[in-house]
Amino acid sequence: MAVMYKSTRNDKDKITASQAILKGLSDDGGLFVPDNIPALDVDFETLSKMTYQQVAYEVMSRMLTDFTEEELKHCINSAYDSKFDTDVIAPLVKKAGANYLELFHGSTIAFKDMALSILPYLLVTSAKKNNVKNEIVILTATSGDTGKAALAGFADVPGTKIIVFYPKNGVSPIQEKQMVTQKGDNTSVIGIIGNFDDAQTGVKNMFNDKELAKVMDEKGYQFSSANSINIGRLVPQMVYYVYAYSRMVANGEIKAGDKINVVVPTGNFGNILAAYYAKEMGLPVAKFICASNENKVLYDFFETGVYDRNREFILTSSPSMDILISSNLERLIYRIAGDSAEKDVELMTALSTTGKYEISADMKGKLSEFYGNYASEKETADTIKRVYDAEGYIMDTHTAVAATVYEKYKEATGDTTPTVIASTASPYKFTRSVMEAIDSAYASKSDFELVDELNKLSKVKIPQAIEDIRSAKVLHDTVCDKSEMEAQVRRILAL
Ligand SMILES: *Cc1c(COP(=O)(O)O)cnc(C)c1O
Repeated sequence: MAVMYKSTRNDKDKITASQAILKGLSDDGGLFVPDNIPALDVDFETLSKMTYQQVAYEVMSRMLTDFTEEELKHCINSAYDSKFDTDVIAPLVKKAGANYLELFHGSTIAFKDMALSILPYLLVTSAKKNNVKNEIVILTATSGDTGKAALAGFADVPGTKIIVFYPKNGVSPIQEKQMVTQKGDNTSVIGIIGNFDDAQTGVKNMFNDKELAKVMDEKGYQFSSANSINIGRLVPQMVYYVYAYSRMVANGEIKAGDKINVVVPTGNFGNILAAYYAKEMGLPVAKFICASNENKVLYDFFETGVYDRNREFILTSSPSMDILISSNLERLIYRIAGDSAEKDVELMTALSTTGKYEISADMKGKLSEFYGNYASEKETADTIKRVYDAEGYIMDTHTAVAATVYEKYKEATGDTTPTVIASTASPYKFTRSVMEAIDSAYASKSDFELVDELNKLSKVKIPQAIEDIRSAKVLHDTVCDKSEMEAQVRRILAL
């Protein structure tokens, strides 16, 4: 059966997957959601013998039903190749009583590569299928990792340009260096004086600006989004949960049909929503454990049913989760409101005007599969040190937030269900925070000295992504106020 996509804010219009990928965000400001999620009618014994690419085809072909087999296989095989430093693409590593699903083996060493290495292929294929003649301008706000992964994915892809905005003082030094050294004639990177939410709001406003869209069209451009609001990112993210489960079947940890829990370090709610969609497709998940850092707006939401972004924005050592407006939560809100666009509009209007909304008791009742908690900065650092001391395994700060919350969950519930923790970044991407968590004496060393120290402790090879930026030249040095984002876009595109 065909899967069509409709906006969370409008019941009427339905479009194909390729059209939804091209548009990114609906004209009414809503997010595209599938009108149904087909069952994954392949058994886990069979899946457990498949490669990552084969599992990807099984999952994605059920969601992107207007892509031909040939198109989809081309996208998958072009994305998941030697850009990843391991054939298995997403290794499942058993340590300290959990399965760490390492999603950081792609070219920018964060989990964003899992989706952003395939999005350019999906987008270019979508443009061809829909006879789009305009050049596609990827406009992206990043809390650090999306930006680099999108730049790497789209650099020099014909028919595309990419413009990335990041919070100038809100990303790690290595994240910033990775972005500002990006090569490719079609790439632009701009730091803004503001935080990630400012960047994301600025981008959303440009997407919703009909006047700007008209001027762009006259010049032969149209926007699309590489942010996790694009279903072209969500669908590839469903794959690795199915893949992880099938590996646990393969290694005998579970039998096909047994339930697992998943723990996801969460910011924009994209990664955990992909797990939720995977469950709707048939993945046996008992609990979705949503881990936040000190920006614990989601924890408070799961506790109280009130989403309230009116609070201080805290810069933490897990910057990719420093977010107060979790965009993809809107897709879950829509679902627990009984697929009601009307209810969704009511709540999202409240969010944009007052900064908060409250869901009904009935809606809250539908969140019982979710458990939310958060980790303080100290708890996060302590977890890194504890697991290193016990196992010699060094995890990054985002993964440590998840591992901390998993410990809290086990303590609160006594639940021993086999569990997958999404491990979202290489420790090499957040070297300073990671090394200082292990020993405060590292504070006096430079970032690249710390890279070598981390290599000594972990015995994990220094990733190519880090070697590349040691000597790379800065190619992007524009910084602007958050109010000048549109002016920058007009300058870059000569509008
Ligand atoms: C983006 C990111 C997250 C948060 O993922 P969401 O899909 O936004 O919830 C967590 N960890 C790392 C390392 C990231 O880059």
